[in-house]
Amino acid sequence: AQEKARKPDWLKRTVPGGDKYTEIKAKLRELKLHTVCEEARCPNIGECWGGGDGHTATATIMLMGDTCTRGCRFCAVKTSKAPPPLDPDEPENTAKAVAAWGIDYVVLTSVDRDDLPDGGAAHITATIRGLKEKTQGRLLVEALVPDFQGDLDSVSMVAQSGLDVYAHNVETVERLQGVVRDRRANWAQSLATLRAAKAAGARITKTSIMLGCGEQPAEVVDALQELRDNGVDVVTLGQYMRPTKRHMAVAEYVTPEAFAGFETAAKNMGFMYVAAGPMVRSSYRAGEFYLTNVLR
Ligand code: SF4
Ligand code: SF4
Repeated sequence: AQEKARKPDWLKRTVPGGDKYTEIKAKLRELKLHTVCEEARCPNIGECWGGGDGHTATATIMLMGDTCTRGCRFCAVKTSKAPPPLDPDEPENTAKAVAAWGIDYVVLTSVDRDDLPDGGAAHITATIRGLKEKTQGRLLVEALVPDFQGDLDSVSMVAQSGLDVYAHNVETVERLQGVVRDRRANWAQSLATLRAAKAAGARITKTSIMLGCGEQPAEVVDALQELRDNGVDVVTLGQYMRPTKRHMAVAEYVTPEAFAGFETAAKNMGFMYVAAGPMVRSSYRAGEFYLTNVLR
């Protein structure tokens, strides 16, 4: 099937570059770390990794392997019912490698591991604790975590790990959950985990919505309001991009003006921080805002 809409000019990719970018790329190979930035071929890589221009270098590291137990319609990650077992050394090795890398802000993310009793919560928590220990708390850590199938013990464990930002993506508006995400995911369950994370003491909670999946503007506004009503502090809105022809088609390319309208609406609802735009990804320049405005 063809994409329904042609890619507009505002989605032209920037070419990654710069000394800092080249240096990080080399170091990652040496440290054997996997970044989502590279694996998703994220168009923001030059900007995020580059630092400079008064912003902080940010990267997104992937934990718990490259194979997910779920199959969301928008996602390019491999799927299997029985992925390989966790690497028990991964928390320690990741903490060592990221600490040696010397960055200020890291986003940890992972595949969903519905095959594990705790969904990987202990593994993620150990990684965060290791990172904080090895950097004497200097490194700011955002963890973008699964819904843990609604298991609030797992949510609390991660929320109390010492992390700075607890992130979980609702991905789309309520009506389209079943179309866009794996059938094991849903709006109410995701919202409940964000609410529980905040209640367990997470300093900042964060979520992301992809636009262009067929949602109506009023549904986006309702989603934002409900997120805010459940204590979510930070929201990002970006354009859905189809990774391959086998994935869900793009229903619409949302204009920069429409993104700006949602950004204003969200700010008026009282979110602490909102990033909205065609190229925005959930971890887009994450460090910049948090470092300068909230966490320090
Ligand atoms: Fe991709 Fe996450 Fe869905 Fe797994 S749960 S398929 S990694 S979006
Ligand atoms: Fe990496 Fe996220 Fe930046 Fe993309 S937006 S380069 S995935 S940190």
